[in-house]
Amino acid sequence: MTRIWAETALLADGWAGKVAVDMDESGRISAVSTGVERAAADAGRHVGVLLAAPANLHSHAFQRAMAGLSERRGPGAHDTFWTWREIMYRFLAAFTPETIEDVAAFVQMEMLEAGYAASVEFHYVHNQADGTPYADPAELSRRIVSAAGVSGIGLTLLPVYYATGGLDGRPLAGGQVRFRSDLDGFARIVEGAEDAVRRLSPDARSGIAPHSLRAVPAADLARVAAMRPDAPLHMHIAEQTGEVEEVLAVHGRRPVEWLFDNHAVDARWCLIHCTHLTAGERRAIATSGAVAGLCPITESSLGDGIFDGANYLAEGGVLGIGSDSNIRIALSEELRTLEYSQRLRDRHRAVLATPERSCGRRLYDETLKGGARAAGRDSGALAVGRLADLVALDGGALHLEGLSGDALLDAWIFAGDDRVVSDVWAAGRHVVADGRHVRRAAIEARYRKAMAGLRAAL
Ligand code: ZN
Repeated sequence: MTRIWAETALLADGWAGKVAVDMDESGRISAVSTGVERAAADAGRHVGVLLAAPANLHSHAFQRAMAGLSERRGPGAHDTFWTWREIMYRFLAAFTPETIEDVAAFVQMEMLEAGYAASVEFHYVHNQADGTPYADPAELSRRIVSAAGVSGIGLTLLPVYYATGGLDGRPLAGGQVRFRSDLDGFARIVEGAEDAVRRLSPDARSGIAPHSLRAVPAADLARVAAMRPDAPLHMHIAEQTGEVEEVLAVHGRRPVEWLFDNHAVDARWCLIHCTHLTAGERRAIATSGAVAGLCPITESSLGDGIFDGANYLAEGGVLGIGSDSNIRIALSEELRTLEYSQRLRDRHRAVLATPERSCGRRLYDETLKGGARAAGRDSGALAVGRLADLVALDGGALHLEGLSGDALLDAWIFAGDDRVVSDVWAAGRHVVADGRHVRRAAIEARYRKAMAGLRAAL
């Protein structure tokens, strides 16, 4: 058994002082006691502010390696998502299984240091650079799992099904051939991924991810959704207006309309982005139990548009946060960017706050709930029986000094940054201590070597 003692902690029923939290060998919270004097808790780790830690619900780990390399204009009048994607495809050709693993371990470490305890990897690089499957078709899925073994992050691995280059069924071309599979090949990748996840740790999960309506023909989507009927199912949807128009032209419906007309969308679904919705589509998601997987920094970086968070939450919608392109790994900045996007659009302040909960508290509560649901992970609250996915903030940090309750979250998210994160536990594994990942030096060395190789190959 391991014990943490916190000066203050946000429990499932609110803030409490002098809190002792015990974790058992299975990585779950076995006891929570309040009003415990520090001397009585001597054996454990002492922290300032203890919170449940969220899951990052959407990541493409390999893209961390191209962060910062796509900030130049192309020859056209406007640089867009589609030109960014061309750079990503060129970069992709240079990856080996080893560099995929080393970059993934590095970005998972950064996620942990930012305060996430878990990550949902939307993993779509399956093949060799020429499009040929590896001898083990799940080779690269196993590399993501190996990386999680190194970083200690709570992993939910979603092998991605990616079959076509557009709604007209055109074949994949260029960098996309590394993503390609047919249904039989995909079934083997899923089995391999599940095998690797089972060996990783009891808290690790797997699921399934049809990439998007662009990349998955309608008949295949039904087959893929039926392959693992109880597992998390994630899909990109309605990120770009170009994609909405293409789906409208081919199916006669907007993407989310078409999805709800053809599938029983429920709480196991996580719809990534949902940027361009009609009010009817927004209500359909909000009342379905599905999670809207928002990626505010990436959506800003790619110029996607602004999700309608205020109305969606008012309608009872569930949302969570993903780092997606991994251009920056910053939990507090994701939450701040989401709220600020609403303010800029509406020209109001504190848009996502409620009369009872401050902006920071509401953002954090919603992110915990949606992240756990999307990851299929029994986390998201500091309560007995839940996985011990926990983050501690340094109570002595200047941004937090003298504050209590929800103001601590507001100060972290709006006035500070993730440098206030002191400790993180993922299913009880103490992976960040004093603001640094416990294996940072080794993971960083492997990443530097991988990046040198990747940049030389460009
Ligand atoms: Zn994505």
